[in-house]
Amino acid sequence: MVLMNPVISKLTGKLVVLASASPRRLEILTNVGLRFEVVPSWFKETLDKRLFKTPHEYAVETAKQKALEVKQIYTFECLWFLNFGYYLLYTVLVVFFSQTVDGLILEKPVDKQDAYRMLSRLSGKEHSVFTGVAIILCHEKEDEEIDYQVIDFYEETKVKFADLSDDLLWEYINSGEPMDKAGGYGIQALGGMLVEYVHGDFLNVVGFPLNQFCKKLGLIFSPPGSLTHNSAQTSPQGSPVDTVPPCSENGEDEPQGTSDPAAPDLTSRGTMQMQNVRENETEDGKEKLSKMIELMDGFKASKVLFTASKLHVFDVLRSSKTGELQAEDVAQEIKASMKGTERLLEACVSLGLLQRTGKEYANTAMSRHFLLSDGPLSLQGYIQHCNELVWPLFTHLETAVREGTNQHEKAFGKSSDNLFQDAYYSRHEVKLRFMKAMHSIAKVSGRDVATAFDLSKYKTACDLGGCTGAMAYEFAKAHPGLSVTMFDLPEVIEMSGHFRPHDADDRVSFVAGDFFKDELPKADVYILARILHDWSDEKVHILLSKIAKACNPGCCVLVSEIFLDEDRKGPSRGLLQALSMTEGRQRSASEYSLLLKSHGFTTAQVKHTHNLLDAILCVAE
Ligand code: SAM
Repeated sequence: MVLMNPVISKLTGKLVVLASASPRRLEILTNVGLRFEVVPSWFKETLDKRLFKTPHEYAVETAKQKALEVKQIYTFECLWFLNFGYYLLYTVLVVFFSQTVDGLILEKPVDKQDAYRMLSRLSGKEHSVFTGVAIILCHEKEDEEIDYQVIDFYEETKVKFADLSDDLLWEYINSGEPMDKAGGYGIQALGGMLVEYVHGDFLNVVGFPLNQFCKKLGLIFSPPGSLTHNSAQTSPQGSPVDTVPPCSENGEDEPQGTSDPAAPDLTSRGTMQMQNVRENETEDGKEKLSKMIELMDGFKASKVLFTASKLHVFDVLRSSKTGELQAEDVAQEIKASMKGTERLLEACVSLGLLQRTGKEYANTAMSRHFLLSDGPLSLQGYIQHCNELVWPLFTHLETAVREGTNQHEKAFGKSSDNLFQDAYYSRHEVKLRFMKAMHSIAKVSGRDVATAFDLSKYKTACDLGGCTGAMAYEFAKAHPGLSVTMFDLPEVIEMSGHFRPHDADDRVSFVAGDFFKDELPKADVYILARILHDWSDEKVHILLSKIAKACNPGCCVLVSEIFLDEDRKGPSRGLLQALSMTEGRQRSASEYSLLLKSHGFTTAQVKHTHNLLDAILCVAE
């Protein structure tokens, strides 16, 4: 599409991310030539509305939270691009949403009666439609950090409904159109017939305040100095860009929120409380249902990811000249049926793994980031492991729960008491697959684990059960004064050459042995990354007592695991993993701390990294 708009064209060549999947917004922005990626935010719209003076303040705050949440992903991506040096470093994140009313927020009707209540409330009156927008601009700083600023604004449009007869209202309601529209109508379709006049930006009522958005872009790209840069989340008060905006959230889909000045005064205490009860009940109910659906369908989503990954869909799209392919080309490349491929691609789009423009499919930033098989942060290895090993085990979960045993025999025809030393694990391809899985997790989480604590006073480290060495290399990279010995079973050390980085640091060395039986290499820091959860308390005590013997006072043990919440309420990844019924068990930070304490180690720090693994540092007394 030719770019007609000189302001929009300023975004050409920049990565623009839209944190909303509303089809109307997508259409409005696509029509003016904006190229963007869609990454719907998972931020739940559950901020307490009573804490906001106006509905629009609530909406803008939610918009900002959504934008900031999506920004996390992209900041990560920007850093990745920086590290590997092949992409521009200017990201624009756009998140917006909302709609509302003055006092009363009309959301999507839950049934026809609800739609009737909403529409009859609007009949013959003027109401306001608000949309809130939050724009996050990311800038590269010299020290490889990403700086950003948040700009937010709102648009208000007044809409007057004609006097609507019950017959007309019911005809409209029976058309089905109101049911997925906040406010209960769609102005761009049949709902247009209800409207007497519109004052303000019509597109704002459809879903996006394009005019004001372009004006804001104009200000953003005006000569430097017109915006205040902030490293923290701010609304640039006093800058040329407006700050305090109105709006509220009506879900990500269609806007059409309304404010009804002529509606009963909702500021009186009793009425306000009643209103809140109704809204909360509705929101709560909707949230529970959507959580339920997520749980019921979660396995399908996982299998879509596994299958697309196994069929190399993401690699195939990346390898095409333009990075885009039509379904039939993908089908040909992956040697699959047209019908099946089309459905798989559609499902991937719905999960945010792919994006589609017309008939062309392309990777999203998220899939480029994590799903290309040769990407530096590829999770392909772990995904394959989940598909080939964890999935069959979980197919027998019911028996696993009844018997309290792992289901290797049922799933693979062979029992497995010690995953690392039995015949099944010893098979070359199984071991390699396992190592690839460990490698991919270590690549993604290694940097955060390695930088979790200040280790500058230590000279040597030993990564026990270091597998491919990925974690050891991360520690060496993060601590220039540290030499790291990677220790693992002989057959693993033998295969670790497959994973040696091309710029391998010679401060990392490899030693073969059995950490339960053999002497451990001497070190100031012992790293146990994803080791202890594999073993019973009894075995953990054997290992820790060997480490304690090897340690001088002041030396330390760094344990990296998924830490369970102390009250076991979350996060659930560790609890889910525990269902594979290995000999070991998942533990909380304080449980690890107690285990270490019994071997003379005092907990110095616990770090929740917000990555796949957390870490605890314990020092020998
Ligand atoms: N630490 C690595 C990481 O975080 O990526 C790998 C963790 S993996 C779950 C467990 C590792 O412990 C495997 O590499 C396995 O070969 C190693 N291992 C298991 N039993 C061992 C033993 N008795 N002696 C040495 N290493 C062992």
